[in-house]
Amino acid sequence: MSWLSLFGLGRYFAPVTGHAKDVGEPDVWDLTIDGAGWLVGQDVKRYPSVRHQPLTTLGEVPLGIVLHYTATDHGTAENLAKRIQKFNRLKDRSASWNVLIAATGVIYQSVSLERGSWHCAKGRLDGHTINRSTIGVELEGYGKAPLPSPQVDALRRFYEAVIPHYRITKERAVLEHRTFDPTRRADPGDHVAEVARRLVSEIEP
Ligand SMILES: [Zn+2]
Repeated sequence: MSWLSLFGLGRYFAPVTGHAKDVGEPDVWDLTIDGAGWLVGQDVKRYPSVRHQPLTTLGEVPLGIVLHYTATDHGTAENLAKRIQKFNRLKDRSASWNVLIAATGVIYQSVSLERGSWHCAKGRLDGHTINRSTIGVELEGYGKAPLPSPQVDALRRFYEAVIPHYRITKERAVLEHRTFDPTRRADPGDHVAEVARRLVSEIEP
């Protein structure tokens, strides 16, 4: 860890020094994943939710990543993350997700990447329900082009950490909610899917 990252200044100084990322040198923006499936790094905030369940996959490893958009305005992410921390069976919608990426680039994690959340009620992957086999990622907003660049950068950081860690195939890194529930869901939409596929294609194999 550099003194810049200690003070959270790496983001301001990195462009000035002109070195984006040297080989072998940890970048202050790199994310890691702890032993319990939680992201660790700059601009990651945890709001642990009770809305989760075990994965049914071998070793409880996620097999894919399903993308969504929140269909809410920019600036709503943190409140959404707080709202799903608890669950009242009588009045709450049974919805949750593992990770929500704000337009600002802040990543709000609600559920371990090694637990299932309640992000996609339909569909199956290798015989498992989607909720019990994939990571649900919400993007704050309506999926409209162009996505804010901090949000795209955050999705890239997320992919760079998660895809190699769980050995998720590139195809399964860009699953779409609408594919599993086409009559009710339109998210994440063409633009998000296109951006996500480009990010995934740029990750070193
Ligand atoms: Zn969705």
